[in-house]
Amino acid sequence: MSKEKKSRESGLKVIFLGGVGEIGKNMTILEYDDEMIILDCGQAFGYDEIYGIDAVVPDISYVQQNMKKLKGIFLTHGHEDHIGALRYYSEIFKKVPVYGTALTLGLVDRHLKENKTTMNLKTVKEGQTVKCGCFSVEFIKVAHSMAGSCALAIRTPVGIVFDTGDYKFDSTAVDGKNTDLQRIARVGSEKVLLMLGESTNVERKGHSRSEKVVIEGLESIFREYFNRRIIITTFASSNYRVQEILNIAKKFNRKVLLAGKSMKGIVDVAQSVGELNIPQGIIVNKIDNLKPSQVVIIATGSQGEDMSALYKMSKDSSNVLSVSGKDVVVFSSSPIPGNEKSIFDVVNDLYRMGCDVIYDSLNDVHVSGHAYEEELKEMLSLVKPKYFMPIHGEYRHQARHAALANNQGIKSRNIVIPNIGEIWSVSEDNLHLYGTCKAGKVYIDEDIIQDGEKIIEERKKLAKDGMVMILASIDVKRCVVDGYPEIIAKGFPMDDYLEVKICEKVAETIASQRDCSDLNDVGYQVKRAVSKMLMRNNSFPIILPIFIEA
Ligand SMILES: [Zn+2]
Ligand SMILES: [Zn+2]
Repeated sequence: MSKEKKSRESGLKVIFLGGVGEIGKNMTILEYDDEMIILDCGQAFGYDEIYGIDAVVPDISYVQQNMKKLKGIFLTHGHEDHIGALRYYSEIFKKVPVYGTALTLGLVDRHLKENKTTMNLKTVKEGQTVKCGCFSVEFIKVAHSMAGSCALAIRTPVGIVFDTGDYKFDSTAVDGKNTDLQRIARVGSEKVLLMLGESTNVERKGHSRSEKVVIEGLESIFREYFNRRIIITTFASSNYRVQEILNIAKKFNRKVLLAGKSMKGIVDVAQSVGELNIPQGIIVNKIDNLKPSQVVIIATGSQGEDMSALYKMSKDSSNVLSVSGKDVVVFSSSPIPGNEKSIFDVVNDLYRMGCDVIYDSLNDVHVSGHAYEEELKEMLSLVKPKYFMPIHGEYRHQARHAALANNQGIKSRNIVIPNIGEIWSVSEDNLHLYGTCKAGKVYIDEDIIQDGEKIIEERKKLAKDGMVMILASIDVKRCVVDGYPEIIAKGFPMDDYLEVKICEKVAETIASQRDCSDLNDVGYQVKRAVSKMLMRNNSFPIILPIFIEA
């Protein structure tokens, strides 16, 4: 075999199972010959409570077909869109080593404990390099909205692949640690073959603001509302934000109550791995004997989730934790796209109760954890990759990031916008689409739903058009209905007239059959006839005939 042909066949494959064309369920695979590693394994945003779905995770059929090749799973950081799918795939990945920093794996472990399962978790430090088959993966510290966030510099037999992870540049970061620009520049000087760059905030001009801005914003609220109870909602995983609130509470002599299961759980994890420093005696479990001016409540619910602490506190007025019209409620967060309606429903309710609600960025109560345009440019100029693929974004984000990379001097033929399910082959002198694989959504309702797309379609149809059940006993010899069918409608408006019409249609359809011995077939004919009769604007309810022999 010629050298050239061999190198082409054994090139590096980059496979996208999620996180491209969408913000959420990040999952990328690097494969070289008979070895592969997974970068992140996240869940999708915005599916909570839709048709009873708990979560949506990537389809991992490709990985399952190649399980023997899988050498390790590498996690950039602990946000749900990067780790959230692992708990559902823990049995499949049981023995595979999962690498991440302490906070990342602490959060994974919390999920696994909830599901009463375990995985082979291997904690790494920022700056550490892990050898894994033919890959060697360096974790490089990046600033983001949570501690332990890393970019990954992956040395492969064909060159370096650099995955930025989620990042921003923050020279006044709360933990004093900015993105490790020097290290990234060093990797850049070693010649990076391919960069996978997060694209979330590519539409925002300039430079993201420092997390430090929030401290002043929150302090001014504490000063202004010195005699009122303050309730702050934020992501439990934003450990820097929680730290700031704890420090400010201490400064203003207030006790802190944590509300919401995930708030308490995640604060515990962050503290246990040393990423949260809780001032002595500041956290209390009860606030009955404290004045409003002595309390801050940190609550889950920044996305308007209807199982969250803030939502429940605003709906139930029966106890001391309930929101009162005298409270000040601060949303120290921004909406994940798609959640705006639920959030503003809660905000409206809070205003109705008489609360002061502070929720927009003008008040400096939130800054983004993702790089803006200038930082994206700077990252590109540090990494100086030969090939560039924008990830972690909807297509418009990816397209803009691609244009940005082109302006930064990367040749357009070396820039590719990857799509979900694509397998790209990368080598020193070639980047091409090698093929595609099965990819997409897997729905979780407690557990993985087999045939999920079909079930969700049925749930959608039920929700949209309702259901009509027809119970009848059939004299199969004479092809007539014995007595009257019973009609039960759910989610579909039924009246006596329509009921009679349906009964007539059932009788007529059955009478027109030559042979009624196959009740399944009779059911199918009735279903067709009644659907046609109830059709309005091209849609009809689910018709469920249940026939028994008389
Ligand atoms: Zn993130
Ligand atoms: Zn993310």
